[in-house]
Amino acid sequence: MSTAMPAANWVITGDIVTMDAHRTIITEGAMAVVGNKIAAVGKAHNIRAQYRGVPELGSAQALVLPGFINAHQHLTADRLIASAIPDNLAASSAIFDWVLPVHNHVSGDDDELAATLSLTEAAANGITTTIEAGTVAHPDRVAKAMTTVGVRGAIGGWGSDADGLPQSASVSEVIDAQRQLIERYSSGGLVEAAVTLVGHNLMSDDLVVEAADLARATQTRLSFHLSPTPDDSNYYLERTGCRPLVHLDRLGVLGSNVLVGHAVHVDTAELETLVRTNTAVVSCPWAYLRLGQGVTKCFAHLDLWHQGGRVALGCDTENAGDAVDALRAAALFCGLAKDTAQDPTQFGAHHALELLTIAGAEAVGMADRIGSLEVGKMADIVVIDRSGIGWLPPSPDPILQLLWANGSRSVSDVLVDGNLVIKDGNCLTVDTESLQEPTRQAAKRLVERSGIRPSSRWPMH
Ligand SMILES: [Zn+2]
Repeated sequence: MSTAMPAANWVITGDIVTMDAHRTIITEGAMAVVGNKIAAVGKAHNIRAQYRGVPELGSAQALVLPGFINAHQHLTADRLIASAIPDNLAASSAIFDWVLPVHNHVSGDDDELAATLSLTEAAANGITTTIEAGTVAHPDRVAKAMTTVGVRGAIGGWGSDADGLPQSASVSEVIDAQRQLIERYSSGGLVEAAVTLVGHNLMSDDLVVEAADLARATQTRLSFHLSPTPDDSNYYLERTGCRPLVHLDRLGVLGSNVLVGHAVHVDTAELETLVRTNTAVVSCPWAYLRLGQGVTKCFAHLDLWHQGGRVALGCDTENAGDAVDALRAAALFCGLAKDTAQDPTQFGAHHALELLTIAGAEAVGMADRIGSLEVGKMADIVVIDRSGIGWLPPSPDPILQLLWANGSRSVSDVLVDGNLVIKDGNCLTVDTESLQEPTRQAAKRLVERSGIRPSSRWPMH
């Protein structure tokens, strides 16, 4: 007796790192993808028997993982001046002489191109979901890039009512624009919108309260930047008498749909507030190191994790961490956790992989759809090729060998929403060769319009 199985797009073979509740790894495993969902996960001989004649990806040597989640990425102008902001500038100079002029002059074409480049690099490194950090002037163009590359993500527009920032507007104008964006990109789609404020000291109490109301009313996420350095604490203490997260809690802003970018320099009362309100935090460790922000002196993200707090990882921007590479961020986070605690027993590669997958999905409110390889979830899948020299000899623990040794260079195939986006390391949805000249031209024009002065001058000491 045979039961007709629905036609599968793919059977993917290898050792399947499911990231299910038991952290099951199925050796000599396989999974079937039907439409945009995972239809079956099990031993390869069983899956093949059920899904005969279906095209296969992976191999007996492959490692198969859930797609990675990059929970904080600026998909805008920064990419067109990638790794061009000198790494020896004071923070004020980097912001006022570089970042703001570029954001003041970015065009819609620039935003679409920048997002296409970032997301294509991201996909090649196994990132299948990207949460935009909320400094986009042309969010529809970034959404178009997400659709073109074929990756999952959330977009948001500039949200600030502070004077002197590009795209700043009144509270009602900011809220109306964000509401309209959410109506255009509703929750649950491949590209969705969320409420995004710039944060820091660039949001009034009125704005953040209304933004929180909008996020709750539309059942979306609210995100903002806070406390990558001690500056925000000093500002809030002076203005309100409280530290930032304590103040925001008193305003009723925090909660399980809130995602705070950074929250590095927080005290014990703020940590308690984050845990009690179930507010999530994105850690972007390379940005803190590239910008010298003091994460090695105050690694509150580890304390948050120990206390059961919700933590995801991000890659931030191409001038603050630079590489759009989630495994690289995860390895650094892991090393920082061990070293700042001076205790190698605290946090390991497996925990770091959780932050990139199921725990990251939970932190951004998408764990019902993504973050693990289980039947019924969306087919966002990364295949790691273990035939290279970096995997020889293969460790009995592939997670250690992936995180500490090989990283993203072994990513071979990536599916998002059941579609093959990366095959043998190459992007199928975007012709990267054809982007070369338009990118050089767009970058040159943006540099000219914004008046920044990239240089190759060696900084003698
Ligand atoms: Zn950011």
